[in-house]
Amino acid sequence: MKIFNSYTNSLETFVPHHEGQISMYVCGPTVYNYIHIGNARPVVFFDVVRRFFEAKGYNVNFVSNFTDVDDKIIQKAKNEGVSELDVSNRFIKAFLNDVENLGSKTDYIKPRVTEYMPQIIAYIKEMVDKGFAYIVDGDVFFSVDKIAEYGHLSNRKLEDLLAGSRIEVNDKKHNPLDFVLWKKTTEGVHWDSPFSIGRPGWHTECVTMIDDIFGEEIDIHGGGIDIIFPHHENEIAQSLACKGHRCANIWMHNGRLNLEGEKMSKSEGNVVWVKDISVDPLAFRMFLLSTHYRSPIAYSQESLGNYVNEWQRIKKTVSGLFIALDYNSVYQAKIEIGDLDIVASIQAFDEAMETDFNTPNALTALNQTIKIINNIMRQKPNYQRMNQGLKAVNYMLDILGLSVAQLPLSEEDKNLIHRWEAARKAKDFFLADAIRSELAKKNLI
Ligand SMILES: [Zn+2]
Repeated sequence: MKIFNSYTNSLETFVPHHEGQISMYVCGPTVYNYIHIGNARPVVFFDVVRRFFEAKGYNVNFVSNFTDVDDKIIQKAKNEGVSELDVSNRFIKAFLNDVENLGSKTDYIKPRVTEYMPQIIAYIKEMVDKGFAYIVDGDVFFSVDKIAEYGHLSNRKLEDLLAGSRIEVNDKKHNPLDFVLWKKTTEGVHWDSPFSIGRPGWHTECVTMIDDIFGEEIDIHGGGIDIIFPHHENEIAQSLACKGHRCANIWMHNGRLNLEGEKMSKSEGNVVWVKDISVDPLAFRMFLLSTHYRSPIAYSQESLGNYVNEWQRIKKTVSGLFIALDYNSVYQAKIEIGDLDIVASIQAFDEAMETDFNTPNALTALNQTIKIINNIMRQKPNYQRMNQGLKAVNYMLDILGLSVAQLPLSEEDKNLIHRWEAARKAKDFFLADAIRSELAKKNLI
């Protein structure tokens, strides 16, 4: 298994810390609004990573947080005259609803900042005690000069970081790149701490949760490329300061999604929300996976439209195959796959996934399998090969999170198909057509 590690900037052979187990953390949303289609990319991609490892027999411990303490949440609560908790609860619910619609699993560990305050304060205190952070008038800052490799992940030197980033003027900081760990304030939701009454900055929550939940360096830390700097750089700095390791062995970052050549941004008003996607969300999922996760995606209605048709075609083949097997009572979930063409397509799929999660190539292998199935279906019924084709395609669809409903036929449905076949045999085309449209209405054809 090869994975591109942003930290070493190279493709590495992946070996988990503990045999058979994988620890994964993905930075989650700040819950003050709905998520847009760019935010959907890590939600879909890292779910596929999890699914692939699980299909290979690993026990995956997947954690992704909710940032429910933030200036934007406080502002929104103020504007609406409600509590911060009301705002975050509403958008956590909306987020999980979007995640589910996108075909991603929701049964992962979801720590919230508000539930981690004692641990976050303890983590900050440890950095102060060890001399990596300093207090000025109740604010706490991390001293980046204390970490020799600061800038390694984002591959930038301190001078370049200084020149390249818009750093707010703050007389309290020793170095303009020093970042806020704790902010003294009584505005909005706040907590008591040894430093002052206030709230934590954004960068400490993830390292605190990772340390609390896993207690050691994890295997994989994921997120969008836009949070490499400063967020992930700062996570590494804090983890090195307190725990002596860089938080994660492998750092994975997905590329951006742009709207037809421009960057999607809430401030510009050019945003497409996940909840407003007008097509089958799984077609959108397929569209996202059709580009390698590290490459940018250019989104347009037209480019998405191709996948709407393709997804429809795949669904039709897979459900048609399942119905044919179930109708004849020959469906075998546990069949062994020996057909050489089908075996080859599974190998191509696995090879694609094991090469830095090359989902475009995995989709090619899926399409190859669909082609094989369509060929099998055109020939005289061969239930062995049909069952093997179904098992192979379901294996791939499950890893990609593209599920096609396969519910056993009711007696009534079986009866309808039987009557349709009889009418066609008797050349009663009028009756056959009438039954056909009934079958189509039930998605049985
Ligand atoms: Zn994070």
